Amino acid sequence: MYADRINSLPPYLFASIDKAKSEVMKKGVDVIDFGVGDPDMPTPPHIVEALKKSVDNPARHRYPSYEGMLSYRQAAADWYRKTMKVDLNPENEVLALIGSKEGVAHIPLAFLNPGDVALVPDPGYPVYNTGTTFANGVPYRMPLLSENDFLPDLDAIPKDTAKKAKLMFINYPNNPTSATATTSFFEEVVDFANENDIVVVHDNAYSEMTFDGYKAPSFLKTKGAMDIGIELHSLSKTYNMTGWRIGFAVGNRDIIAGLGKVKTNIDSGAFEAVQEAGIAALSGPQDCVRDMNRIYTKRRDALLVGLEELGLDVRPPKATFYVWAGIEGNSMEFSKRLLEKAGIVATPGVGFGESGEGYIRFSLTKTVDRINEAVERMRKLDA
Ligand SMILES: *Cc1c(COP(=O)(O)O)cnc(C)c1O
Repeated sequence: MYADRINSLPPYLFASIDKAKSEVMKKGVDVIDFGVGDPDMPTPPHIVEALKKSVDNPARHRYPSYEGMLSYRQAAADWYRKTMKVDLNPENEVLALIGSKEGVAHIPLAFLNPGDVALVPDPGYPVYNTGTTFANGVPYRMPLLSENDFLPDLDAIPKDTAKKAKLMFINYPNNPTSATATTSFFEEVVDFANENDIVVVHDNAYSEMTFDGYKAPSFLKTKGAMDIGIELHSLSKTYNMTGWRIGFAVGNRDIIAGLGKVKTNIDSGAFEAVQEAGIAALSGPQDCVRDMNRIYTKRRDALLVGLEELGLDVRPPKATFYVWAGIEGNSMEFSKRLLEKAGIVATPGVGFGESGEGYIRFSLTKTVDRINEAVERMRKLDA
């Protein structure tokens, strides 16, 4: 009944964890779930107010323009100049997205012919892989290994694969490893892309979720990056707006135009009232971002205490709301044991790709009190 692209989807590896979770809950266990990467805190009130005001305006009720309102693209460009020190033309170097996932899923349709290769990180956000497959492209998985600080080793990519590649996805600060990129890595990527004629898509969903004074660089700040790449941004994680579905793509105008062509033929843009709320987020006060990062820092530090108790191998993350913890043995079995013995859900690393085996991922989406409760349980587990 289904097309090959559906039948060839990888098995949903989290299904068995979901099932185990509901069984444990049925027994009355108070489960602490660090599984989902969805902020638990509400959208800041000034953004919610902007939506309320906008939604009363009938002019906002009609089809939006495909590329997004110029005022939204202008707000994104202004935000970029302020936070990233990159100048963009809002007319043709900025495109509104219905969340950055939408951009990730659609861009392979613009740049891959059947059989063309897309280079995707492993472990990685699953949509790089499925978006490529849906476009009849062939994903080549670049392992992100601890010994390389979870950056792909571009020299390890076979020459003929590199030549067949048309697209490359990178993502720093990274989900799920929480690793950050160096500017010299970005320079290597630009050289590699020029040598092999590759379009680079840098997914920068976590650029603002940073701690301890760390500032995540924009890929577009790299010399030559504007010639070969784009960057995807999401308001989801930065402003607790996952449910609103709003983001944007910025960078090389021809690449932006290619993504825009696909979108014109598939979707009709983001609700303009949501775009106006997005303008409030991008151009309004940014204390909310700092406040949330302070909260994530406290949560991170609380959780690290427990992970040390368990003897897991962790580097304190400088960015993202994930803690990527090295374990002994099989990640699926480790997760199940943690759930059954301590009522704690963490995501098995293998769910993000083969190279994620040997790790589990915790999302910092629970209060410090709940994290402390989880740490207590970890302590008892150890004893
Ligand atoms: C959460 C996430 C996204 C999706 O963000 P939306 O804007 O909500 O679609 C994209 N990429 C990565 C790496 C993410 O973790």
